[in-house]
Amino acid sequence: MSKRDFYDVLGVSKGSSADEIKKAYRRKAKELHPDRNADNPNAEEQFKEANEAYEVLRDAEKKAAYDRFGHAAFEGGMGGGGRPGAGGGFRNQGDFASAFSDVFDDLFGDMMGGGGRGGGRNRAARGSDLRYNLRVTLEEAYAGMQKTIQVPTSVACGSCEGTGAEGGAEPTTCPTCSGMGKVRAQQGFFTVERTCPTCSGLGQIIKNPCRTCGGQGRVEKDRSLSVNIPAGVETGTRIRLGGEGEAGMRGGPTGDLYIFIEVAKHEIFERDGVSLFCRVPVSMSSAALGGDIEVPTIDGGRARVKIPAGSQSGRQMRLRGKGMPALRTAGQGDMFIELAVETPVNLTSRQKELLREFDELSEENNPESSSFFKSVKGFWDSMKG
Ligand SMILES: [Zn+2]
Ligand SMILES: [Zn+2]
Repeated sequence: MSKRDFYDVLGVSKGSSADEIKKAYRRKAKELHPDRNADNPNAEEQFKEANEAYEVLRDAEKKAAYDRFGHAAFEGGMGGGGRPGAGGGFRNQGDFASAFSDVFDDLFGDMMGGGGRGGGRNRAARGSDLRYNLRVTLEEAYAGMQKTIQVPTSVACGSCEGTGAEGGAEPTTCPTCSGMGKVRAQQGFFTVERTCPTCSGLGQIIKNPCRTCGGQGRVEKDRSLSVNIPAGVETGTRIRLGGEGEAGMRGGPTGDLYIFIEVAKHEIFERDGVSLFCRVPVSMSSAALGGDIEVPTIDGGRARVKIPAGSQSGRQMRLRGKGMPALRTAGQGDMFIELAVETPVNLTSRQKELLREFDELSEENNPESSSFFKSVKGFWDSMKG
C-alpha cells in the first residue's frame, strides 16, 4: 500500500511556492469535489488524497518534515517517541478543519447552494408563488370590486391531508439523514454536507405513498378565489395574496399568489395616474354662444359643464374630483375635458341661407379679420412688385 507522493498528488514540484501549491490544490479540489463527480467512483478517494497532501504542503514546518522524511514523517503514533520531523507536535484534525474552514467556504460556498452548511431541518418544501394576470375595465378600476378568479394551482391532497402518506399516516423520519435533510461526508479533514439522496432534503420518507397524490401531498386543481380589487388600481399594480399560491410539498408552507392588474383601454377616457382626459364634442353654435353641456363621468353619471361664449376648439376645462381615486389613499384626481368644436354637416337650405347671412354679417362685425386678409394680400403684392 504505497502512498503517492504529495507533490505528485497536487501536480506541483518540490520548489513550488506556497501560492503555487495553494492554487494547485484549489484546482484539484474543484475538479474532484463530490458534487461534481457523481459518476466517478474514485473521485472521493482522490479528493481525500489531495486534501491530505495539501494539509502537509501548505504548512512550512510539515512541508520541511515531509521533504526530509517523506510519508514516514507522519506515520505511526503522532509525535510518539520523538519521531523525526514530528517536533512541535501536530495539531489534531479538529484544528485543521477549522483552519481550513475559510478555504472551504471560499471554494464550495457556491456549490453548496448558499447557506447550505447550516444544517437544520427543511422537511417540507414551500409551494411556488403564482402569478395571475387580471384584466379589468377602467370603471372597475375606478370603483374597486370583488372578482372571482379561477386559479390553476395545486392544493393540499384531501386523501392524505397533505402528508403524502396513504391513509394520512405520519411520514417517518428519514433513516439516512435522521431528519436533517442533509448528509455529511468526511472528505479528508473536511466535512462536506450534501442534500440527502434518500429523502431529497425533506428529512422524512413515506413508506406507503398516498395513491391519490403519489406521495406529493398535493394535487393539481383549479381553485376559485374571490379577490378584492381596491379602487384606483393601475396597469402594473400587484396584489399579493399570502398563502394563496401553490401548496407546499407534503404539507409544507403554501406559496403566495400575485395578481398583476392590467386596466383595459377605455373608449372615451384616457388616464394618467389619477387624472382622466376626455374630448367633448360641442356644436359650433354652443361654442360661439356659450351654454351648458353634459359630459359623461367615469362613475357612470353625468356632469354639467358651462361653456363660455366664444370657446375655441381645444379649450381645456377641469372638473375637480371627477378623476380616478388614488390607490389606498383618500385622494381623488380631476377630470380634464377638451372641447372639440364640430362643424355642422348635412345642412338644410334654410340653415345654409342663415349661415351665408351670418357670414356676410361677420365681415362687417370683424373688421380685424378683413384687415388681416388685406395685410396678407399686401405682403404678396409687395413681393411681386
Ligand atoms: Zn434524508
Ligand atoms: Zn395524497
